[in-house]
Amino acid sequence: MTIEQVPHWHQPSHPGFITIKTYKEGSFSKYATASNSVPANTVVADFSAATPASEKAYSSVQVSETDHIELNSDLLYANHSCNPNVVFDTDKGEVRSVREIREGEPITFNYLSTEWDMAQAFKCECGSDNCLGDIKGAKYVPTKALGGQFINSHIRRLQEKRDASSGKA
Ligand SMILES: [Zn+2]
Repeated sequence: MTIEQVPHWHQPSHPGFITIKTYKEGSFSKYATASNSVPANTVVADFSAATPASEKAYSSVQVSETDHIELNSDLLYANHSCNPNVVFDTDKGEVRSVREIREGEPITFNYLSTEWDMAQAFKCECGSDNCLGDIKGAKYVPTKALGGQFINSHIRRLQEKRDASSGKA
């Protein structure tokens, strides 16, 4: 998904971590890349700039079964990947690397780890072996298809409720 929002925060918001790049010259479509190499399992950012979102949007992040936030920072430009290099841990309010990230590598997280039913669906082209293709929210994906990945507790709870009511795990 590409983001074409004009930022209202001071940039760069995470100078040691995120360098914003554009897909092509003159394009407004931006994405986050690593300013420096990052070891695995390292906290690289927090959500301290975030504010509650009145409703979900393409730019918001779901943080509970009912609540969404706007990040108000360059974290907005972290694209989705089905095999991401960071997690957005909404319980701890932090972003962590899940493997070593090389300088210049796009910063990605799995939108399905935070979003139950997204405002805007899109087709993923991450190219990973486990790519799920159409990304619409965890609601539309079997629980086992997200097994082995970091998934936030509100998504786990929503999966459990869904699976209990449908009678399958
Ligand atoms: Zn994918």
